[in-house]
Amino acid sequence: MASFGKSIVPEADLKSFTEYLVGCKRIVALLGAGISAASGLPTFRGAGGLWRAHDATSLATQEAFDESPGLVWQFYSYRRHMALQADPNKAHHALAELARRNADFITLSQNVDGLSQRANHPAKQLHLLHGTLFTVKCTNFYCNYSEENYTDPIVPALEIPKKSSGLNPSATDKTGEEASKALAEALSGTTNEVDISDVSNPIFIVDKKDLPQCPECKDGLLRPGVVWFGEALPERTLKVVDKWIAAGPIDLCLVIGTSARIWPAAGYVHEARSQGARVAVCNMDPKDTPGELHYGDWFFQGDAGVIIPEILKSVIGEI
Ligand SMILES: [Zn+2]
Repeated sequence: MASFGKSIVPEADLKSFTEYLVGCKRIVALLGAGISAASGLPTFRGAGGLWRAHDATSLATQEAFDESPGLVWQFYSYRRHMALQADPNKAHHALAELARRNADFITLSQNVDGLSQRANHPAKQLHLLHGTLFTVKCTNFYCNYSEENYTDPIVPALEIPKKSSGLNPSATDKTGEEASKALAEALSGTTNEVDISDVSNPIFIVDKKDLPQCPECKDGLLRPGVVWFGEALPERTLKVVDKWIAAGPIDLCLVIGTSARIWPAAGYVHEARSQGARVAVCNMDPKDTPGELHYGDWFFQGDAGVIIPEILKSVIGEI
């Protein structure tokens, strides 16, 4: 894993936070890409994220899907694959444990990678603002079909190609050492896969008929259940969250791995404050805060996977 630099919580901050935390009842956490970066996962969300020389945000639209469903599915199939290769880190596990111990704690995640779910975060206390890569739904306007799907690849045509291993003994005359090296590479999983995010590696155009099809209406293509640019956030989720926020004073708002400067994240920090919450931010970059920090807020700089279990330890124990 890459070095994430300074991830040590200053003693005084840890002390004041811990003293406050033990008295907290209603807590809301807001998660962004930074918590998944600690699991080594590329996120592609936001400006500058490129996939095969495409601005990743340009692939995350209904228009792109209508025009090139094969390419858009290859992008999402790659992201599903990478997310399944990654493991939830200690921050995901720590938050899941906090949720198990405190029924008044909810998490709002902007991440689509399924890592919180795979850390067994209680589903009722986890609200996915941008959907998830592991729900697929029908694109037919008249069909409401959706399913949870962790199959990788979701259809054979979306399998990530392997580098040619030269394992055919009749084609090459390898020495024993070379042959076992090739075999080891072939068996080692992702290292032998072609990096299809790199535009210099050619990929096949996947025919529409080979993409995931709706089993119910047998008419529409299935699409990833993520919120695309230009689409509304999931209405039912927003309603549940709004109801929770309005239900009473909030003690603490944890902002983890997100600058929370854009809507709706920014709005939630603001609403939590107006319900009395103190805010604790955990981020790699000290400039990455949801606006001005207030007196009584905390800023913990560094890797969420190190910091979150540390600052929650007094309530959740050792993770
Ligand atoms: Zn359908």
